[in-house]
Amino acid sequence: MTGPTPKPWIMGIAPYIPGRSTTDDGRKVAKLSSNENPLGTSAAAREAFASAAGRLERYPDASATELRETLAARHGLDPARIIYGNGSDEVLHLAAGAFAGPGDEVIFVRYGFAVYEIAARRVGATPVVAPDKEYATDVDAVLASVTDKTRIVYIANPNNPTGTYATKDEIARLHAGLPEHVLLVLDHAYAEYIDGDAEDGGMALAESAPNVLVTRTFSKMYGLAAERIGWGYASPAIIEAMHRIRLPFSITIAGTAAAIAALGDTAFVDHTRAHNAEWRAWFSDEMGKLGNAGLRAVPSQANFVLVLFEGRLTAEAAYKGLMEKGYIVRWLPGQGLANGLRITIGTADETRGVATALRELAESAG
Ligand SMILES: *Cc1c(COP(=O)(O)O)cnc(C)c1O
Repeated sequence: MTGPTPKPWIMGIAPYIPGRSTTDDGRKVAKLSSNENPLGTSAAAREAFASAAGRLERYPDASATELRETLAARHGLDPARIIYGNGSDEVLHLAAGAFAGPGDEVIFVRYGFAVYEIAARRVGATPVVAPDKEYATDVDAVLASVTDKTRIVYIANPNNPTGTYATKDEIARLHAGLPEHVLLVLDHAYAEYIDGDAEDGGMALAESAPNVLVTRTFSKMYGLAAERIGWGYASPAIIEAMHRIRLPFSITIAGTAAAIAALGDTAFVDHTRAHNAEWRAWFSDEMGKLGNAGLRAVPSQANFVLVLFEGRLTAEAAYKGLMEKGYIVRWLPGQGLANGLRITIGTADETRGVATALRELAESAG
């Protein structure tokens, strides 16, 4: 018997592999594999979440008015131009769904976020990979990849899994070099972690240009990964097109309440940012001290660090060795990164512990 045949482009999708939370032998250990907030969630957000338990029979507000208005007030934006989704992953998929299809090309960078390729293939579009420059986004390579068929360029800034950051000038140059019919999606999942007050100018572009969508999330800095609240900002025409294919109730009442409360708890956000900056710098420094063993930290502006292994200790051996010692990190051979591990900045203890474990592994590898 033959059942229904999936579309050929669907079968071209390599399934997304999430970060693991248990070891091969089922032990629960420090999870530094999914870039979650090691400090948890704002207490105010947890309370708002709990109080939503009294309204389980209700559908969520399909237009997410309160969330949009709170975001708009917080960031100085027009609430009518905010879209929201089940994590920013949904918003990334909406962009592909509304603006690309069979015969179209979708560009992202080598060592880019895995969801972009899935989003492109899901709608039958052709993924196009622009080569990197030392693991970072190479604006010239992206522009050189543009053809008449290009419909979308996805850039995560800072990028996952490399942690690299394209400056405001680079993003402006990228945007200026793109034809207006190409949608530039700037994925700001880690924008809150950038050092100081640097930013890539994406929101201003989304405000003024007809072809820029910025996406953001409550999953990382706000510690709400469980609740799947993401959002995006773009021109009214882009937002309107995406709304047509959005699931009407893709964000929940409890998640929305938690997100709104999280936005108000600036102390939690400031504390998380300071913690991350301190321990990211410390950890990168420690990896620098292991340079003679071939370890190298790619400069990061996110809440994780990509460590490259160019000596006796391989990334695969380090991945397994860390698992033995109680740390799950991300090894991404499927994304062409067999030589690196992406390590989330954890609590102080976890970060010290994973650095010590790597030192021990490097020493015993000779
Ligand atoms: C974590 C992450 C997201 C956010 O995903 P959510 O669906 O909002 O949880 C988006 N883009 C990148 C690059 C990420 O790493």
